[in-house]
Amino acid sequence: MSQHPLWESASREPEMVKERLADIVAFARANSPYYRDLYKDLPARVEDPSLLPVTDKKTLMANFDSWVTDREVTIEPVRKFIEDPSLVGEKFLGRYTVATTAGTTGNPGIFVLDDNHTRGGTTSLREAFRTWLSLGDFVRIVLRGARIAALHATGGHFVSVTSFTRWRRSIRLLAKLARDFSVHTPMKELVDRLNEFRPAVVLGYASTVSLLAREQELGRLHIKPVLLVLTAEGLAPDEYGQIAKAFDANVGNVWGSTEIAGTAFSCAEGWLHVVGEWIMVEPVDAEYRPVPPGEQSHTVLVTNLANRVQPILRYDLGDRVLQRPDPCPCGNPLPAIRIQGRSAEVLRFRTKAGEEVSIPPLAFEIDHVPGVDLAQVVQTTSTNLRVRLRFESGADANQAWQKVHGELKHLLASHGLDQVTIERAEEPPEQGRGGKFRQVMPLAQSG
Ligand SMILES: [Zn+2]
Repeated sequence: MSQHPLWESASREPEMVKERLADIVAFARANSPYYRDLYKDLPARVEDPSLLPVTDKKTLMANFDSWVTDREVTIEPVRKFIEDPSLVGEKFLGRYTVATTAGTTGNPGIFVLDDNHTRGGTTSLREAFRTWLSLGDFVRIVLRGARIAALHATGGHFVSVTSFTRWRRSIRLLAKLARDFSVHTPMKELVDRLNEFRPAVVLGYASTVSLLAREQELGRLHIKPVLLVLTAEGLAPDEYGQIAKAFDANVGNVWGSTEIAGTAFSCAEGWLHVVGEWIMVEPVDAEYRPVPPGEQSHTVLVTNLANRVQPILRYDLGDRVLQRPDPCPCGNPLPAIRIQGRSAEVLRFRTKAGEEVSIPPLAFEIDHVPGVDLAQVVQTTSTNLRVRLRFESGADANQAWQKVHGELKHLLASHGLDQVTIERAEEPPEQGRGGKFRQVMPLAQSG
């Protein structure tokens, strides 16, 4: 247990990381009234994140104007800015990127990012590309035209869109090579457009790319990417292999969020390696105490050492993290983690005896059932689940439903929840505001 904390082993220069933390804490105290007050009893210099009180999106958003370190940035003009889709890719006050999060927990966040913000993401992406691609792969990308297709939720200020749009505008060559594709496009149209564009690299949400892999298997989509980079949600481990097989391509997976940019990237063993030069990651239990490797955390606290305009310091991100206790067989010495879904997505029930039972979102993955294309489990009351399904074309819907129903019944019974009813929805799975499909939607929680 005398092991180094994750953030320390995630950096090649932990002393530098401590220095960066001390710097940003000092900057926040000097320029953010919120942090000045929150940190008033702390020592003058802070090099250890565990000294800092925990923050979260709800509290920070409620204190937006005093949270930011630039007094010219206030919530009302920022809100007006993000309500205007024509400003996507433009800078707020001529100097800041503004991004909203889809708000899976029901509290959309508004983030103001300075030009330093993506430093963490850039550092980890550089490491990632070296892991995912051989020299031969780089050559193949060039030979296949080096076109990049970015699939994301267009029409909103989501960070993938704003940074991609800016990046593309700033480099003329990229303006020709990279193209946006909206995940809200009907599948047939999306397939047609991708066939025409012939990307060598595809970036997109895991759930969308997973659907495209099926189109490729069916022969309707016939692109030859060298690399597919998946973001935003975790798939079951075998689904990454399925995607790689469907496209005969390398598949990389990135863990990140608007608050911390891309922070960890996948290896061939299916683990995510944390790059901690600009981001500190702390897996903790429900009381915010450190959780050792090998044990699943309740949530994860993150600190962004790069973005100064709106400091994200020891911030409860909500993801459940499992750190591998032994060295990863891939040989990468950086800490290896798996994300076990957001704690907000855990479904909570009570047994007839009144005992509380929590079931993690992964347990509800039912889209492996033959005939099921996409599934979404919605908890509508404490004793009812509504299941939205989309079936593969030509599939026997009733037969597939019987199988889904049987599996869920069995899962619930194994937790002593026989009284929970399962209903089949007429409506198909619904996409969230940010274009993500959530496989599990818990009963709306307050706050
Ligand atoms: Zn590894």
